[in-house]
Parts: sequence; structure tokens; C-alpha cells
Amino acid sequence: MNREVSIRLFTEAQKYLPGGVNSPVRAFKAVGGTPPFIVGGEGARIYDADGNSYLDYVCSWGPLILGHAHPAVVEAVASQAKRGMSFGAPCPLEVELARRLVEALPGVEMVRLVNSGTEATMSAIRLARAYTRRFKILKFEGCYHGHADSFLIKAGSGALTLGVPTSPGVPPGTAADTLVARFNDLKMVREIFKEQGEEIAAVILEPIAGNMGVVPPQPGFLEGLRELCNTYGTLLIFDEVITGFRVAYGGAQTLYGVIPDLTCLGKIIGGGLPVGAFGGRKEIMEMVAPVGPVYQAGTLSGNPLAMAAGIATLEVLRQEETYPYLEKLGKMLEDGLREALEEAGVPGRINRVGSMLTLFFTPEEVKDYASAVKSDTSLFANFFHAMLEEGVYLPPSQFEAWFISLAHKEEDVAFTVEATRRVLRKLKAK
Ligand code: PMP
Repeated sequence: MNREVSIRLFTEAQKYLPGGVNSPVRAFKAVGGTPPFIVGGEGARIYDADGNSYLDYVCSWGPLILGHAHPAVVEAVASQAKRGMSFGAPCPLEVELARRLVEALPGVEMVRLVNSGTEATMSAIRLARAYTRRFKILKFEGCYHGHADSFLIKAGSGALTLGVPTSPGVPPGTAADTLVARFNDLKMVREIFKEQGEEIAAVILEPIAGNMGVVPPQPGFLEGLRELCNTYGTLLIFDEVITGFRVAYGGAQTLYGVIPDLTCLGKIIGGGLPVGAFGGRKEIMEMVAPVGPVYQAGTLSGNPLAMAAGIATLEVLRQEETYPYLEKLGKMLEDGLREALEEAGVPGRINRVGSMLTLFFTPEEVKDYASAVKSDTSLFANFFHAMLEEGVYLPPSQFEAWFISLAHKEEDVAFTVEATRRVLRKLKAK
């Protein structure tokens, strides 16, 4: 594939933007090479500046569950744009989106709309801290909750009681208030609670991890966390920025029947425009300003264009056939990839929930961060680039979720599986 224009653009981009990008993974650091610069998208496909076309499994990292430029979303945004793009005053569309979120999610009685997932999680923990009058939070290794200071913490080996900042610039005091446990390890969480439970304001997690690659919760894990939180008066926060309206209309909380105290949302609820939200029990949400003392605000929050895109997206998703269709395609992709791995004799594991999936190049079960990082990342990099040459655009890192949209067709999945067969055969022969 010719990528001359993208190469030129990437060189220029690096003059003005750190790494040539506005969000790190886009720079292809994990896999090397030059990212194609995307100029358009339609349905399940994207087009780069050199005129190449790709079947897209990134889908803007999750928001585009209807595919690119869905007519209903385009129409909603265009017609709102003609009537104004931002008012900084209440508008009917934000009430409409909020109502739909409350109706969809059992854990959400009231919601505050923000502009990104990061804002949602950051505000949710502020609220949890104010509500419980405690400062510590517990997160899980490998879970990503945006780039606010409190979340950029990874467990130092065995050092469970003291957070170690992953990013420079995070004050040690902030890091110390973030405890880190192993995903799917309820025993470890119990031990942490035994020592510090009374100080923990909130447990926050992706109920299905997507940011170490897809790692589903093992049976009993979410239920166990719910119980522990009840016992210690700690709030349970589900970060459903990815899973909300992805794995079921009512998110992972509906799929697993475990109801969090607070829920963070983003991605799909903005239909491709910048949106986030946090919501939960009314009694907690009423602590948010202006009803309560917990400050939270935003010039563009509840932006009418984003609201219009979100409402149009949810309206399509509400239809009965949505999630069965996504499950059907997801299963077809999973089965096809597994066969391709077996045929080629390449060890791999596929984790999937509905239309989110990761193929890990490891023979072992992937149930947490430690088992995920055993994957062969250099094999992944080769696989990624070979798939790109085949016209399949996968997330440019082993530790990300692939997303299927309603615009993907069975033929697209069949094409992807065939491409995987060819690529794995070639890689194996090397
Ligand atoms: N939480 C989760 C689970 C996410 O996947 C992300 C982003 N990928 C965020 C929070 C942060 O969202 P944003 O990038 O919109 O700030």
C-alpha cells in the first residue's frame, strides 16, 4: 500500500504536535511505523489520505457502534448545527439524553453530562470522596480510567498499600491515595479492605476490562466487590465508558446484574462527538453543584451537537435486533479467529464479550494484567502491520479491544478471518 501522503503528514505533524498526535496510541508507538492519516469514514470502512481503504475495528476506540457517518447521526448533528452549536444555557436535548441514560442504566437515577470519559471518572471520585468523607480509592492494575492524576497509577510489584506513580507529574500524595489490586482477584481486594476498608471512598473498575485488552470479570468478582463495598460503606463505581451501550443497552451492570453506586459513561453516548457522563443514586448525585457542595462544571457540557448525536445513536441501538446482531458477528469473528490460530499452529487466546474482543498472542488464559502482558507483542506488531496491508485496521496495540459496529456485515467478518488466515500462515512460515 502506498502511504506517501500519510508519511509526509506524519513528519509535519511531529513539528507541531508532540509525537504528531493528540492522543498517544494513535502514534503507533507499540507497533512501529507510520499511522495512516484518516480523511473519511463510511459504515465499517475508513479512508486514508493516500486513498487506501480499511475495514475498521477501532471505530474511534468504541464510540462508533453504528459505524462511520451513520445517516441518522449525521442528520441530527447537521440539523442542530444550523440552529446553533452551543448556548451555555439549559437546552432540551440534554434533558432528553439524560432521561434516556437514566432509563437505560439501573444504577443511574440522575446524571451529569461532561465532555470526556476522563472528566466523568475524575468527577465521580471527587463526588465519592465527598460523599464518604474518605480519600482513598481502589483501582485495578490494567484498568484505564482516563488521565486524571489519581488514575495514572500502576501497582509496584507487591507494594499494594502504596501507589507508585506511573506518569511523572503525578504528586506522590495523590499516588498514595490510590490503592491498586489485581483484576479478578477478590481475595486480594478482601485483604486490602481488611486493613484499610474504613478509609476507602470508592472502588472503581471497568466491569469488563477493555484497556489491557478485553478481560471479562470472572463469575462472582463483581458480586464480591458489591458485597465488600456494602460492608465497608465504600462506593462501587463502574467505569462503563467502553461497556455502556456496548455489551448491552443497559451496559455491563445489566449484563451481570450488579448495580454500582456510580457509573461513568462516554464514547457511545456521544455518537462520535466529545461526551462523558457520570451518574448514580439520587442521594449521591444531589451532592453535585448547584444542588450540593461538590463542584463540577463545563463551558461545553451538554453541548447540543453532542447531545443530538448521542440521542440519534441511542435511538438506533434501542431496536431489538441490535445486540443479538452484534453478538452474532462477534461470535463469528471469535470462532473464525480461533480456527485461523489453530490452523496456523500459532498460540493465542481470544477474550470476547459481545462486540468487543481481543486476540492475545499467548497460550495462557488472560484474566488480569499479569497474564495479558505475557502476550508476544512483537508477533502482534507483525500481525498488525500485515493485517493493515490486507486492508484491516486493528487497534495498534496488543492491549486494546477490537470493536464491531452495526455497519459491519457477515462478509466483512469473513474477509477479516480470511485475511487472518493468510497473515498467520505467512508469519508462521517466516
Ligand atoms: N474510562 C475508560 C474505560 C476508557 O476506555 C477511557 C478511554 N479510552 C476513559 C475512561 C477516558 O475517556 P476519554 O478518553 O474520553 O477521556
